Amino acid sequence: MNRYFMNKNEILNSVEQAFKEKHFCAYYQPQFNHSNGRIVGAEALVRWIHPEYGMQSPGDFIPVFEANGYITRLDLYVFEEICIFLNKCIRDNIKNIVPISFNVSRYDIYFASFIDEMENIRKKYDIPVKLLRVEITESAVIGGNEYLANTVERFHSLGYIVEMDDFGSGYSSLNVLKDIKVDIIKLDMIFLRGEIGGRGGIIISSMVRMANWLGTPVIIEGVETTEQADYMKSIGCDYIQGYLYSRPLSESDYLKLLLEGRTGQAMPHMNFTENIDAGKFWDPNTIETVIFNNFVSAAAVFSFKSKNNSIEMLRVNDKYLAELAMNMTQKDVIKKHDDLIFDDENRKIYIDTIYKAIASGKEEECDTWRTVYSACCGEDTVCIRSSMRVIGRAENEYLIYVMIRNVTIEKKAYTALSASEKKFRTAGEHANIFCWEYEVDTKKMYPCARCMRELGLPPVIENYPEPLIENGLFPAEYADFYRDWMRQIDEGAEHLEAVIPLTDDRIPFHVRYTAEFDENGYPYKAYGSATLVVDDIK
Ligand code: C2E
Ligand code: CA
Ligand code: CA
Repeated sequence: MNRYFMNKNEILNSVEQAFKEKHFCAYYQPQFNHSNGRIVGAEALVRWIHPEYGMQSPGDFIPVFEANGYITRLDLYVFEEICIFLNKCIRDNIKNIVPISFNVSRYDIYFASFIDEMENIRKKYDIPVKLLRVEITESAVIGGNEYLANTVERFHSLGYIVEMDDFGSGYSSLNVLKDIKVDIIKLDMIFLRGEIGGRGGIIISSMVRMANWLGTPVIIEGVETTEQADYMKSIGCDYIQGYLYSRPLSESDYLKLLLEGRTGQAMPHMNFTENIDAGKFWDPNTIETVIFNNFVSAAAVFSFKSKNNSIEMLRVNDKYLAELAMNMTQKDVIKKHDDLIFDDENRKIYIDTIYKAIASGKEEECDTWRTVYSACCGEDTVCIRSSMRVIGRAENEYLIYVMIRNVTIEKKAYTALSASEKKFRTAGEHANIFCWEYEVDTKKMYPCARCMRELGLPPVIENYPEPLIENGLFPAEYADFYRDWMRQIDEGAEHLEAVIPLTDDRIPFHVRYTAEFDENGYPYKAYGSATLVVDDIK
């Protein structure tokens, strides 16, 4: 970044002038929600634009500032820059402002009036506290957890969100989480990779699991490759900050990004083929991981504990989600187990097959019915064919690779012939509910499995609702009314409902929409449903 390194003396000689003439400026590195492409926040990173030496990297001058007492002054300077910028955004009515995180050095928090001075600056520019987030490093703990815990509490009482930066870089990670109630954990991919080579993946995945247990969101930093991003997504970590999506941007470039809209471009996928080696499966940088995320059919990895027959989902690829056809996310499957809800009979079949796979060491297969639930599609009962194979074992614990296929339609066709037909009817079918999901940014509509089955809709409808007006599902006289609904949703309507006659036969349906908003309150999805209005049918 810098054309010339400055040595310690050069730094100290020009620091006063730099403050006076405002040679420091804040760059902003956006953070994205990987599962929907939205910008969720940005981190402010200081840059020193030296008139003679060019741009200086904070990595070089911050340690000198820390050692010579300039750091707190710098941090307050950067904080003021952020407030000036946010104030401008608010005055210019920028629609999609997201919170900005700022770095608080461990030296700042031992400086008694630091927080008061911050608060004075914030109030001077009239910035709502929810637009600012504190980043504290774990190493601030040196000198005792208690002091840091009190500082975090003080920030909390003022309404700040607190992030633990560079989590996992110290030796005290676990203790820190126990004592210090941070709201967000930041993990650095680069740090973990450099230190522990191939084991990095296992450690990251354990940390994300641990954070999930605590219900603490994780931002992963330093993501440079699509493999790493897909890997993070597959273990249930949604928030990403790194060169892959964006380098730190100047204020004007960052503003441009905000104005362009909220959607990060879709991630390109990698193209490779080779044999899967289970041993390398946990390393985000291996071909095995690339294949899991991009190539193999619908697959997941879970751990099975034979002590209590418990299953914990660890990794899930996109095709697995597509196969369930419920518009679920990796998070639904990994955290909430929304894909493994069996009745006793089906659970027994599933567990028996796991034991068969453990005993044979080969691939074993079973078909089980399960109830799946998702925000988009509500509840459905599906039949899943699972082929499992053990890929790792420890005492009483097995790592199992499972490939799935949704065989609901075949099974239903078959059971329709059999006497037990009724048993497999879904709740949805009794109630005659059709569901779908509408994505605000892309204007794409994702129909539920039932819409696809019975209305012959494709899995994705672009430029919604136009194709359905064209094909007559929405009658022409309702087209403008319905387009207006979509406009209202784009602008933030929370709930809409009306009776609308659908299809060429003008069958009255009760149509409802409930919108979902992102981390920052902007609409990004709406869940639609249509229920047959039974009374009106003569
Ligand atoms: P940090 O807080 O961990 O910030 C993240 C660093 O990682 C930034 O370096 C960022 O540019 C870099 N980075 C982001 N994505 C990637 C990636 O994909 N690959 C790689 N290789 N690097 C990536 P930067 O801007 O040089 O900052 C270095 C450190 O200086 C920061 O680390 C932070 O500890 C400190 N720092 C920066 N600004 C401030 C500040 O205003 N106050 C204080 N106290 N410290 C600051
Ligand atoms: Ca940071
Ligand atoms: Ca960091």
